[in-house]
Amino acid sequence: MTNLDKSYDFLIVGSGFAGAVCARELAEQGNKKVLLLEKRSHIGGNSYDALNDAGILIHMYGPHIFHTNDERVYKYLSRFTNWRKYMHEVVGNVHGKLLPIPFNLNSLYMVYDNEKAMRLESKLVRAYGMDKKVTILELRKNTDQELAELAEYVYQNVFLYYTQKQWGTSPDDIDPNVTARVPVYISRDNRYFQDKFQGIPEDGYTPLFEKMLSHQNIDLSLSTDVKDLLSFSEVGLLLQGKPFKGAVIYTGAVDELFQCKFGRLPYRTLDFEFETYDTNWYQDYGTVNYTVDQLFTRITEFKHLSGQNIENKTTIMKEYSKAYTNALKEIPYYAINNFDNNSLYEKYHELTLKYPDFYLLGRLAEYKYYNMDAIVSRALELSDLLIKNGGV
Ligand code: FAD
Ligand code: UDP
Repeated sequence: MTNLDKSYDFLIVGSGFAGAVCARELAEQGNKKVLLLEKRSHIGGNSYDALNDAGILIHMYGPHIFHTNDERVYKYLSRFTNWRKYMHEVVGNVHGKLLPIPFNLNSLYMVYDNEKAMRLESKLVRAYGMDKKVTILELRKNTDQELAELAEYVYQNVFLYYTQKQWGTSPDDIDPNVTARVPVYISRDNRYFQDKFQGIPEDGYTPLFEKMLSHQNIDLSLSTDVKDLLSFSEVGLLLQGKPFKGAVIYTGAVDELFQCKFGRLPYRTLDFEFETYDTNWYQDYGTVNYTVDQLFTRITEFKHLSGQNIENKTTIMKEYSKAYTNALKEIPYYAINNFDNNSLYEKYHELTLKYPDFYLLGRLAEYKYYNMDAIVSRALELSDLLIKNGGV
């Protein structure tokens, strides 16, 4: 464990994209001394990857595909990695038929006979426009009988069961922004994302993080849970019981800092099941979503993502979603955003506002469904601000 008596300008909690980008920026651009604490035994947060026994590069916390339209974010990360050009394609296994997801015009022609599909295509284009995206909730409001029937098909076969598995409730009862991430796409483009910049770090995410954190002003301490070290007192922030003069950027779950005194913030967690086979390929796509059957939500085959040329071995991952209970080894992955939970989050957030040098940043700390690029962007913005204001 790093010597906490050494004086640091910043204490950063968590070495995912939020914490790592801030650490690098403050250390490099701000010339600040940074102490980065991470409770896991490795850096990278949920973007961490590593080779398994078969030599296949595994995303240990679920498949991570980088995509962004934000040039600053892309350029920034490109300082620490080259990119393998990779366009993610997902299909939904609907009773054995593999339909492109997001449901698009190619999916349409696989579901209906040519004549009906052509009619539906022109109705969709007339109603929404070619190359436009329309959320399933919007499409279900369409009053045209045939489009309503199409919406019902997509709802029943793509969204309903998958969402029940992932969130434990129906698409009507979750934040509409969640299903809006995968809109019906009036296009023949089968890619999962349409962003300008897409890819996978050429050597993996972990080497990207290693490069980012390799700076003389950054001290890193792994396997260190800050819950045991940081406390909030009337006189300010205490680190191991002593006043901490620097600023703190915290990227973990905020309720845990206050012993969950208003109740635990609800999250969904995942169980990952890995299987390795003595074959070249398990499936033809990076990810296959199981939208009408199975207990897992999706299967990802990592060689599609890594581009590794390994013969007669392949590894897949099945994802099972369940409610987060804080049981040992469970990790909160998805905030469950709704009015009640967001209000509960605000109560914890308010407790932190008394401490002007304490910042909440990241998917957990902000209780939001952020992709990696959004987090990198927010970390760059916060660092800019702290450097401009002279920090501490
Ligand atoms: P995290 O990566 O969660 O990092 C937080 C870190 O803080 C962790 O390392 C944690 O151990 C540490 N920590 C927490 N509490 C403490 C404590 N008390 N003391 C010390 N350390 C602590 N995004 C995409 O852009 N593309 C994708 O394809 C994609 N796929 C995803 C798939 C899954 C299954 C999941 C769950 C997420 C996916 N994401 C994807 C989102 C991506 O993981 C997040 O945007 C990103 O990890 C957020 O970074 P972060 O630093 O905020 O959080
Ligand atoms: N979704 C679905 N069926 C699919 C794909 C997505 O019902 O085949 C819904 C589901 O509610 C999911 C949400 O859309 O949680 C967002 O999907 P995304 O692929 O963005 O989820 P993530 O990769 O973040 O888990």
